[in-house]
Amino acid sequence: MLSLHIPDKESLTIEHVILDFNGTLAVDGKLIPGVASRLEELSPLVSLHVITADTNASARSELAKISCTLKIIGKNRQDQAKLEYAENLGLKSVLAIGNGRNDGMLLQHAALGVCVVQKEGAAIAAMQAADIVCNDINDALDLLLQPHRLTATMRN
Ligand SMILES: [Mg+2]
Repeated sequence: MLSLHIPDKESLTIEHVILDFNGTLAVDGKLIPGVASRLEELSPLVSLHVITADTNASARSELAKISCTLKIIGKNRQDQAKLEYAENLGLKSVLAIGNGRNDGMLLQHAALGVCVVQKEGAAIAAMQAADIVCNDINDALDLLLQPHRLTATMRN
């Protein structure tokens, strides 16, 4: 469990982190350097879930050594499928990280949504739905590992 304190807002108790794969954890289907070690550092604190359309058909092999649940979704209504997955976990306990149009609903309804831009860019819909936009996934994961950064970004 991760307790996130945001001044003027209720504290967030995050039990699940839902991550998109392509454009978020990976570029061209390959895990981005630095991601695996950060996910391993986070895994004792929260449950990690990777939910993806698996465009490059590489998620299972790339994530084989990482302590996470992998959910590969179908071709249609992917935004709805990602949201429903989070609803089943309990939206209030979910922090979501993604970059694509199909992450928009998830980023909007999760307790906290983080959009990443990096090499593949971010859909405007995802960016507008998020609470925070990061240049890259390692910065986004470091917000969770060093939550005072997140507090500083979110305070009003
Ligand atoms: Mg993506």
